[in-house]
This record gives sequence, C-alpha cells and structure tokens, in this order.
Amino acid sequence: MRILVTNDDGIYAPGLRFLAEAAASHGRVKVVAPDRERSACGHSMTMRDPLRVHPVAWGAIEAWEVNGVPVDCVNVGLTVAWPEGCDLVLSGINPGPNLGYDVTYSGTVAAAMEGAINGIRSIALSMAVFANGAPPHFETGVAWLQDRWSALMAADLPPETFLNINVPAVTYDRIRGERVVPMGGRIYEDRVEERDDPWGRPYFWQGGVAVLDGAQPNTDLEGVTDEYVSVTPLMLNWTNRTILRSLGASLGASAPLAAER
Ligand code: MN
Repeated sequence: MRILVTNDDGIYAPGLRFLAEAAASHGRVKVVAPDRERSACGHSMTMRDPLRVHPVAWGAIEAWEVNGVPVDCVNVGLTVAWPEGCDLVLSGINPGPNLGYDVTYSGTVAAAMEGAINGIRSIALSMAVFANGAPPHFETGVAWLQDRWSALMAADLPPETFLNINVPAVTYDRIRGERVVPMGGRIYEDRVEERDDPWGRPYFWQGGVAVLDGAQPNTDLEGVTDEYVSVTPLMLNWTNRTILRSLGASLGASAPLAAER
C-alpha cells in the first residue's frame, strides 16, 4: 500500500511522526508536510508564490518539507513523492480537536479533503485535547488506528467522501469504542480577544477557548465527550439538498430541474 502522510502542524510536529511510523507497518510511507505550523489554514492553497520542496532526513521514511499549506503538500506529494498515485492519504495526528464547525478551519481535515478530491481514500486524525498543556496522548491515537486499521481500509466509502476521526486525549484503556456520528456545531467561546499593545493601541487575537459541548446529541462532540473515538464521514459536496426545491420556489427559479440533478 502506497501511503502519503501529511499534517498542518509542520514536518517537525510529534504527531506526524506517530502517524507516519504507525502507517509504515502497513505499506510504504512518504511524508510531505509544511515546513512550519500551518494550523487553521483550512482548505487554502498557494497560488501566487512558488512552492519550494526539500527532502528532509527523516530516518527510514522518505520525507519532504514544503513552504506551503496542507493542500499544497498533498498536491506536491502526488507530483514529487507519488507521481504514479497512492492508495491512502493520512493527515495528522493533530494535537487538538477537529470537531463540529472547526473542520471548516482545519488544515488537518483540508489535507484529507484534498486527498478525496484526488480520488484517494483519505483520513484526518486528531487528538481531542481541550486543556492547554495537557498531554495529547498520541499513543492512544496510534493504538486505536492500529486496532481498526483493516476495518478502516475495508470500509466502503463513496466517491468524494473522506473520514474525520477524533480520538479523546486519554489513555487507551479509557477509550470506550468508536461512534460513527455526524459533525456537530460550534465548540469555541470568546473567539476574539481585545488587548492593548505596549503603546495602548488595541489589537485583537483570535483563537478562543474550546468548549466541548457534549449536549449536542448524536454528534462527534458528544462522542468524544463520552470518551468514544468519533468517526465522521464528510463529503466534498456541501449542497443542502433538502432545500433545493423550496429555495427554488422562493426565488421563482427552475428548481425542479436543479433538484433532479
Ligand atoms: Mn494543527
């Protein structure tokens, strides 16, 4: 099995090493990752600057660093590392949750999305760490991945569908299993903080405190709160099909035609 491993935390991130080494027991792994942390870059891509790609000494695993974002890494990876194509794109392991609406900001998830666009089975893996400085427990993510590897590879995924997986950041013995659940809603509070710089001028810092709202039933948020691994199949097509007809009617558009497509 030919495996491309990437992340949004950069080539030196510990989670990348955990993921690549776990994957190496199942096939040939090539790592292509950003040369620095690129978290929360979403599905952006570099178009107006040259991408520079450099091989990196990474032990037994072939690796390259790219001065770009995760989407760039997948596309450059499919050009430089796996020009003949690959069978699996793995992204992570992110040392923080990618749950609910956060997936839209996530570079980790975006890399898996890009893999799916290229028609490759793709999985984003994150440790749901909620406290600053708390241990990410990457070893738990690896243990779970190894345990479920064959099932994950055999699972029937429709085209344009990829998996977003969040593992609670606890020891493996506390993991109660996994739940296949839809994504929930927002998980951050106090997203924008206003502060003063040394000259008294205000500035803003965006980030916020992740608040795990386990009260959203049957979601990835609840699953992780209950110490289950959440597995969420995501798809590229964001169309809200349920309102195609009613919206078309509201606008007086030729909705039935659009809805049939
Ligand atoms: Mn990250």
